[in-house]
Amino acid sequence: MALANYFSRAATAASQVLQGFDAKHFEGLLNGLVIGIAFDQQACSTEGRASLDLLIRLLARLYPTICFLPTGDEARELAKSLGSLARCINKNISIARRRATVLSHCLVVGSTTPDVSCPTFFLGSDGWLAMFSAERPVGTGGSSNTLGAGGAACIAAANLFRHIFSAQINGAAVDKDVIFSLFDYAPGSRANPPLADTVTLDDLFLLGLGAIGNGAVWALSRVPNLRGRLEVVDAEPVDQGNLQRYVLALEKDISRSKVKLALRYLNSQTDLVVTGHNVRWQTIPAIRSMEHVAIALDTAADRVAVQGALPRWTINSWTQRGDLGVSHHGFQGEMACLACLYLPNGAVPDEDQVIAEALGLEDRKMDIVRPMLHNGAPVTAELMGEIANRLTVPVEPLLPFVGKPLRDLYQGAICGGVVFELTAGSKRVLVEVPMAFQSAMAGVMLAGEIVKRAATANSPDWITAKLNLLRKMPSGLITERRKKDHLARCICQDSDYMEVYREKYTSRGGPASQGS
Ligand SMILES: [Zn+2]
Repeated sequence: MALANYFSRAATAASQVLQGFDAKHFEGLLNGLVIGIAFDQQACSTEGRASLDLLIRLLARLYPTICFLPTGDEARELAKSLGSLARCINKNISIARRRATVLSHCLVVGSTTPDVSCPTFFLGSDGWLAMFSAERPVGTGGSSNTLGAGGAACIAAANLFRHIFSAQINGAAVDKDVIFSLFDYAPGSRANPPLADTVTLDDLFLLGLGAIGNGAVWALSRVPNLRGRLEVVDAEPVDQGNLQRYVLALEKDISRSKVKLALRYLNSQTDLVVTGHNVRWQTIPAIRSMEHVAIALDTAADRVAVQGALPRWTINSWTQRGDLGVSHHGFQGEMACLACLYLPNGAVPDEDQVIAEALGLEDRKMDIVRPMLHNGAPVTAELMGEIANRLTVPVEPLLPFVGKPLRDLYQGAICGGVVFELTAGSKRVLVEVPMAFQSAMAGVMLAGEIVKRAATANSPDWITAKLNLLRKMPSGLITERRKKDHLARCICQDSDYMEVYREKYTSRGGPASQGS
């Protein structure tokens, strides 16, 4: 018994990215693995500790057996605390003893080369640079900037996953050598300027403390000397399924508020004033006056609604089938606002479509799914019978969702793995449950964008930066400039909205920034 109690959610996530997924095979394969984590004195630096911390937070949620290979006294001490962390994340985890164990894979942080015969992957960092190699140690930097270290942990966890399941992921290959600058994402870039001594957040709102929000808070909590004001907003408590990919969450956090969880980590920032709002973001009093917003919300509708509140600028983040990423938006000028990205037929499928497909109601999207999502109407017994019928599952386990809103049914039964368990994983469940390393990477990138924006007061010359961690790291450009909708359908092209935006910011002294 070493798999996590929330294993079914992990299996749901994996079933979406693995071809020919079979739950028993997946479980059996994981149970046969022993993942080694080797590190030395060099890895005991701030950057190295950050990489190891996030690595454990990613691996302990999925792999039932890990084994520490520390070299040196300080590393041995660190292994003890990492072992405690792993047990807090999955109390069933087995931490194997080195002597009695044959490793299946090994991840290495620092400059050490462990004496092992299994596939071995090396990760490291230097400030903004995330580094990875399948061949040789890449070293760990001595700076206090841990953004590259966080990115490296995600890239390494992704490579480990792709290696283990290479037969089931189309085009999955392991990276050979990666240097990835979270500063500018440019191909082959070594851009790596030092962090400022202090980074000041200018009344920033972080909306959404789900999996991406967890990654962002993990990274923000480690930025040296954050100052200013940060408001974090999320109405929900942590549920058991969330542990599959919430890097901050420990098993004891189940049922506790996501806001409290975030505050526990942000407490490390003694000069930052953090306010938590344990409510839906739409209901916070400051909604109309929000100027600077970082977005880690789940749905397209929410993102469009945030843009409708007319912040001065936003930094958005997402995970979806095929990629993860971040984007920067103003409202004026020629470049895309946040709502432009989520226009129908835009780049991102809308929530109605995703939920309709997941429930087998594609043909009822307009007359049933969309109105029910909009007005929150409860699911009737009759409709539940129809859904069970269409999904070819028994209706009884779904009956607790009768009388609840359709979104609850989707989140509880589809995302929560009920339908997945009913079909023993044989039916492909159409739902977006990212792997932990995907959400964490989006969160670390969001934190990086927040830090850069705070330091320069400018947005970059790109709108979106996208990455797919189920493929090799890209050698080409991942940033893109996006103009506004060419059919002029967006609120940023609507004269009423434009007028309100202008008034909102000119009445506060000075012309509205173009956010560029
Ligand atoms: Zn727009």
